[in-house]
Amino acid sequence: MVKIALQVKANLENVEELKPLGPDFRWCFKFTCSNCGEKSEKWNYLSLSDEISAQHERDTHNFSSKCKLCSRVNTVTIIPESINSYTADDQNKFKTLVILDCRGIEPCDFSAREGWLAKTIDNGKTFDDVDLSEGEWADYCDKTNQPVGIYEIEHKFERIK
Ligand SMILES: [Zn+2]
Repeated sequence: MVKIALQVKANLENVEELKPLGPDFRWCFKFTCSNCGEKSEKWNYLSLSDEISAQHERDTHNFSSKCKLCSRVNTVTIIPESINSYTADDQNKFKTLVILDCRGIEPCDFSAREGWLAKTIDNGKTFDDVDLSEGEWADYCDKTNQPVGIYEIEHKFERIK
C-alpha cells in the first residue's frame, strides 16, 4: 500500500479558490502497474461516489482494474479528508489536492478535465462548471466586472510516508 499525493500548481487571475466540486467529481489518471511496469494507455476516472467492494476484502475502493499484462487486480482508494482546494495564497506553488491510497498501481499522469468550482475574489461570482480540459480556463465575472482565469496548470506526484 502506497499513498500518493497529487500536487497541482496554477496561475490564478482574480480567482480566490479553485476546488473539485462535490463527491461526484471525477479525477482523471493514467496508472502504471507496480508489479510488471505496464503503463495504461487510456485515461481512468475515479470518483468518491463510485464505491467498489472487493470480493475478498472488507473495505471498498474507488477504482479497480486488472492489469492487461500480468493479470493482477489493482485498486485505488481516494482518501476523502485529503481533498483540498487551491487558493490565491497557493499561487505558483505546488499544493496537494488529493491523496490516493494505491494498491498495486501508481498514477503516472493526471488530467484536470471538468467539474471544478472557481470563486472570484472580492465576493464575486462562483463558477461551478469550470472546464480545465484545455489546460486553462477564462471567463468574466459580471458581479465585480473583472476577467477571471486559471492558467499554467502543472502537476506532480509525491509519495507520502
Ligand atoms: Zn501488471
